[in-house]
Amino acid sequence: MTLWYVFTFLISALIICSFLYLRLKHQLLKEIDQFLIDETREIERVLSHESKETHFLMRFEDDVMARKYYPFFFQVLDQNGKPLYTSRGFQELGYVLKEGVIANAINKKVTREEIRPAGRRTPYRVISTPVYKHGKLTEIIQLATHLRFVRKNLSHFRNNILIGLFVVLVLGTLGGWILARRSLSPIGYIASKARSITSENLSERLIPRGTGDEMDELIHTINEMIVRLESSFKRMAEFTADASHELKTPICAMRGEAEVLLSKEREPEEYQESLAKFIEQFDHLNQMINDLILLSKSDTTQVELKMIPLRLDLLIKDLCNFFQVLADQKEITLEMDTPEEVNVIGDKLRLQQLFTNLMDNALKYTSKGSIRVSVEKNKDSALVKIKDTGMGIPKEEQEKIFKRFYRVDKSRSRETGGVGLGLSIAEWIVRAHHGRIEVESELNQGSTFKIYLPIEKRNSSKTNLKKS
Ligand code: ADP
Repeated sequence: MTLWYVFTFLISALIICSFLYLRLKHQLLKEIDQFLIDETREIERVLSHESKETHFLMRFEDDVMARKYYPFFFQVLDQNGKPLYTSRGFQELGYVLKEGVIANAINKKVTREEIRPAGRRTPYRVISTPVYKHGKLTEIIQLATHLRFVRKNLSHFRNNILIGLFVVLVLGTLGGWILARRSLSPIGYIASKARSITSENLSERLIPRGTGDEMDELIHTINEMIVRLESSFKRMAEFTADASHELKTPICAMRGEAEVLLSKEREPEEYQESLAKFIEQFDHLNQMINDLILLSKSDTTQVELKMIPLRLDLLIKDLCNFFQVLADQKEITLEMDTPEEVNVIGDKLRLQQLFTNLMDNALKYTSKGSIRVSVEKNKDSALVKIKDTGMGIPKEEQEKIFKRFYRVDKSRSRETGGVGLGLSIAEWIVRAHHGRIEVESELNQGSTFKIYLPIEKRNSSKTNLKKS
């Protein structure tokens, strides 16, 4: 980063300095040219006002030779380029007349040249100006002067620039290094802090600098990620603790029962009765283990759903027929209201599991009255309502019942054999079908569970079928 800063800094400085150098050179040469053109006007005046005799030009020459700073040499040529008068010093320049000078003069143009006389260190500027009288080219006046001061000025300027560039390089490197360190230091902090965070200290957070820049945004994003990790770690730990507890309790109870059974000699009927009870408890444990496996798989999206188009009304009808026997045993009326054909895309087994869990709950938590199951078709969704007249769920508990292992009243649940996983599984199945589940309940009045599932649109059934 520092190198990039210095490189950009240096390139910009070089471009600016080169531009200034060229501008200065151009300006200085322009001034010299202006000076030579002014002097040319003088000679022109001498040539036009005085008689053609050369002593006037000689006098002018003496005049200019006396000048210290900008002495110049001159030569007057005729229209063909033949010298009419050459001042002292001009010859020594070893100037060779070029074709272009005459051609320019014919076109009324001034020619500017830079020559480097042999044996001299300074270059010379030569300006050739045509003189026209009555529209006819009569003479060409050539003036030459050294460019020592221009070179000197330019060389001073160059030296100053080099010093300046050196300072720029040192300051740029230093500034670039400080800037790079400053802008990258949060990354170092983020890296070391993120490295130090493990599953043991997930409650720690990165501290933003309060600048509101991209680095702070990165810190916030990482913090949000840690929050998510922390909550899912917490959920996993709770889940494992709850699961072990729920498995341990019945196993301990069964062991106790077995010990009591073995404590003395018993009748064969007694053994049979106890073994049948054990089988029942094993089935219950097996069911719970299956539920746990399903839920932990659903967390890592390992459960694959076999989505097919199916008739939701028929699925509910079959389930109601199955539960009718159980309802009759409990002397509860089970009513069914499925007036129309409702098509959805779903996994048949999972949907059966969802509605079994809900109807099982309705039966479990209703001691008298009725259960009413209805299937409706709305604009975009199918709505299944399972309404019971059971014990209901207190308002403050209604949100929590979908949590794993959550039971409103553990003692009442234990009697019915539930462990608090049924609604968690139901909620996951609904979510996996892109639907939603709601509960409305009044304590001692009853509960209504509402399940919304996306409806299968008839015209898109073909594509859906292909997908599934
Ligand atoms: P469980 O196996 O204990 O029934 P669920 O997850 O199915 O677990 O239900 C969670 C809790 O929600 C239950 O313990 C019960 O207290 C309450 N609940 C569920 N359905 C009903 C219902 N229809 N009527 C009253 N309470 C209910």
